Amino acid sequence: MEVVREGGCLCGEARYLVSGYPEPRGVCHCRYCQLRTGSAFAVLAYFKPENFSLKSGQLTHYGFTSESGKQWDINFCSKCGTTVYYQLEAWGDLIGIDSGTFDPPAFFFDIAGEVFTDSKAHFLGDIKADRHFEKFPGYEPKIDEEDRLKRGG
Ligand SMILES: [Zn+2]
Ligand SMILES: [Zn+2]
Repeated sequence: MEVVREGGCLCGEARYLVSGYPEPRGVCHCRYCQLRTGSAFAVLAYFKPENFSLKSGQLTHYGFTSESGKQWDINFCSKCGTTVYYQLEAWGDLIGIDSGTFDPPAFFFDIAGEVFTDSKAHFLGDIKADRHFEKFPGYEPKIDEEDRLKRGG
């Protein structure tokens, strides 16, 4: 029997369930994650679609194309704005969860790696992870982003 965990948005209207251990999982310092969270980095946990269910809440969708030419689809609570889950074309149909939205203990897993350290906040120390990437393995930008979306520095 796999462990079932719950989580949800700030206002409490959007709630979800996930089962099992996230794969992949890691920290992302990319500009998209900084902007969509308003923070220095995102702590990502991916689940298979069959291991995720939305219990309640009204979600709003926002989609965009990243510099790699891949689609991002973000679903956030229409009331409070917390991202409840997202899907990245690069990860197929996996459901991405920002780990701060899990009920405590929110950060229940080990970090396998961190990516896009070329835009890591200068005040952060070493992240406890086995792998560290300046960009992403196989990363190949296809679009020249606006300056505000460029990484580095
Ligand atoms: Zn909410
Ligand atoms: Zn990112």
